[in-house]
Amino acid sequence: MLSGAFGIIGFSWSACPVSTDLEIIMLDWLGKMLQLPQDFLFSSNGKGGGVIQGSASESTLLALICAREKAISSFQAIDKGWSRSMIMNKLVYYASTEAHSSVEKAGLLSGLTCHLLPTDAAFSLEGDVLQAAIDKDRTQGKIPFFVVGTLGSTNSCAFDNIEKLGEVCKKENLWFHIDAAYAGAACICPEFRYLLNGVEYADSFILCPSKWMLVNYDCCAMWIKDREDIVKPCYITPAYLNEDVQEQTVDYRHISLAHEFENLVRNDHRFEIALPVVLGVVCFRLKGSDTQNEEMLRVIRERGNIALKSSRIRSLYIIRFVVCGKDTESEDILFAWREICLAANKILNSKDE
Ligand code: PLP
Repeated sequence: MLSGAFGIIGFSWSACPVSTDLEIIMLDWLGKMLQLPQDFLFSSNGKGGGVIQGSASESTLLALICAREKAISSFQAIDKGWSRSMIMNKLVYYASTEAHSSVEKAGLLSGLTCHLLPTDAAFSLEGDVLQAAIDKDRTQGKIPFFVVGTLGSTNSCAFDNIEKLGEVCKKENLWFHIDAAYAGAACICPEFRYLLNGVEYADSFILCPSKWMLVNYDCCAMWIKDREDIVKPCYITPAYLNEDVQEQTVDYRHISLAHEFENLVRNDHRFEIALPVVLGVVCFRLKGSDTQNEEMLRVIRERGNIALKSSRIRSLYIIRFVVCGKDTESEDILFAWREICLAANKILNSKDE
C-alpha cells in the first residue's frame, strides 16, 4: 500500500533500500504474530526470512522449482552420470486431492509429476498415506522430492495433518511446503495457533494477507527456512546486475528527458552514446578506456548525489543513465550532467598530470 501511494520504484535494493528494509521488518512482525519458529525470522540472524510474492499460486510454483533444483543438484552430487532430464523424469511430488488447483498447475508449468493423494473422512491428508505413496514410488524408481500440505483447503477448509506429514518429509528428506493461503491469518489468534503445530517441519510456509488482513490482492507472504534455497536457483548475473543490483532496462516514462540527456552527451566531445536511445535508457561512456569509465563512476558514487549503473554490451563497458522518477524535470537532468562532468574533469585532468 505504501509503495503504491508513494510511487516507490523498488525493483532492487539500491533503488529504494527502505522498501526492502520495511519488507524484512514487516514480515518478521507478521511471523512473530504467528509465532513462527525462529528459523523463519530475519531477526534470528539465521538463514531464513520472509518475502512478499504476488500470489499463493506463484509461491507454490517458486517453492516447487527451487525444490526441484535442490533435488537435482543433490542427486548429481551423488551420481554425476545422471543428466537433468533423467532426474526430472523421475521426480514426483505430493499433495492431497483437496489442495488448491495451483499445486497441480505448478507441475504443469515446471514439467513435473504431481501425485494427488486421498484424504480421510475430514478431507485431511495423513502421514501414513504419504508414506505409503513415497514407498510405492521409490520401488518404481521414482524420486519423491516435494510435498505440499494445506491448512484450510479452498473447497472445504480442511486441514492436513502437518505434524505427521512433516515427520515423513524430515525422514525422507523432502522439501515441505505449507499452503495456509486462506487460514494462515487466523492463526494469529491464540485460540487458533494450534492449527500451525508442525509448521516447524516446513521448509517454506505461505499465507495471503489479501484474504483476511485487508490487504489488496495480490499479496502473499512467504517464509523460507533457508533463503539460499530460493536465491540460488533463481540467480542470474547479466552485466547490468554486476553490482548486486537489479534494474529495469525499459522505461515507458520521461522519454523526452532521456533525449535531453542524450543531447548533452552528444555535444561534449569527450563522451559518446553507445546505443541508439529509444525510450528512457541512455547508454553512454567516456571515449577513453574502460578503467577511466570505471574510475569516473567511482567518483560519481563517492559524491553520492546521483545513482548510475554500469554494464557491458558485448565487451564494451558502458554507463546507464535511466530516467524513472515521475517528478523528474529538466533541471534534474542538468544537475546529473553537471555531476558527471565534474567526475569526468577530475579523471581526465588527473590523466593529464
Ligand atoms: N491455496 C489456497 C488454500 C487457496 O484457498 C487459494 C485461493 O483461494 C490459493 C492457494 C490460490 O491463491 P492465489 O489466488 O493467491 O494464487
